[in-house]
Amino acid sequence: MPELPEVEVTRRSFAERIAGARITGVRLGAPLRWPLGCDPETLVGFTVGQAQRRGKYLWLPLAPEGGLLMHLGMSGSLAFGDTLGAPGRHDHFDLATSRGVLRLTDPRRFGAVVWSPALDQGVSAKLLAGLGHEPFDSALTPEMFHAALRRRRTSVKAALLAGDIVVGAGNIYACEALFGAGIDPRTRCDRISRPRAEALLRELRLTLAKALELGGSTLRDFRDAHGMNGEFQGQARVYGREGQRCARCGGTVRRVLQGQRSSFFCPGCQRR
Ligand SMILES: [Zn+2]
Repeated sequence: MPELPEVEVTRRSFAERIAGARITGVRLGAPLRWPLGCDPETLVGFTVGQAQRRGKYLWLPLAPEGGLLMHLGMSGSLAFGDTLGAPGRHDHFDLATSRGVLRLTDPRRFGAVVWSPALDQGVSAKLLAGLGHEPFDSALTPEMFHAALRRRRTSVKAALLAGDIVVGAGNIYACEALFGAGIDPRTRCDRISRPRAEALLRELRLTLAKALELGGSTLRDFRDAHGMNGEFQGQARVYGREGQRCARCGGTVRRVLQGQRSSFFCPGCQRR
């Protein structure tokens, strides 16, 4: 599943090239998770603005009005270029522009492209309503993060995955950040001290920054964005390493199920 770093790397891969392009055509394939929400013909002649990201959504503002909110779902990827060729059976959205075609390929079709009058209006406002802070937003201070954790009784892992305090902590990144901070994933949120909350926020930012760096340095073709999880996993310290030796303490990495998701952690390094 594409996580926040892949979505951000995808955005960076085409944002500058598509900005200022004029839409020349829109092609829809098989139905995606949600309908486009407008007659695709009405978009022809519109100009594409600066692509933004919010959580795992991409927002492509259009002039004179509105924009397209995109989500990659479980298996989606976006490619932009002028040599993409004829659409294949998994290509379900093409935005043809004066600079090239932006194409959504999505075999499982949980992704979506939705028109909205603005990022904070209509369908976009609804879809983005529950999202927490962006991880690198300096407005999210350790004090705020700690205060938000104090109000919850769920496990810290569940709170990270929920994404309503801070977005971007997908399973692999949540496990790695908790390891970095020395916090057992089963720890109750309201039992986490201020210094440990601060350490967790710092580790989450470090983990995501590392993933972004990896994506930026290893992806020649952003259609390979799905490879990022795999690349990052190769460097993971606990994720996917059940039964293996912890590089920090020499103990054994364990796996537990939390809400149907696997949590990997080192009992020697991570405390409740
Ligand atoms: Zn350890």
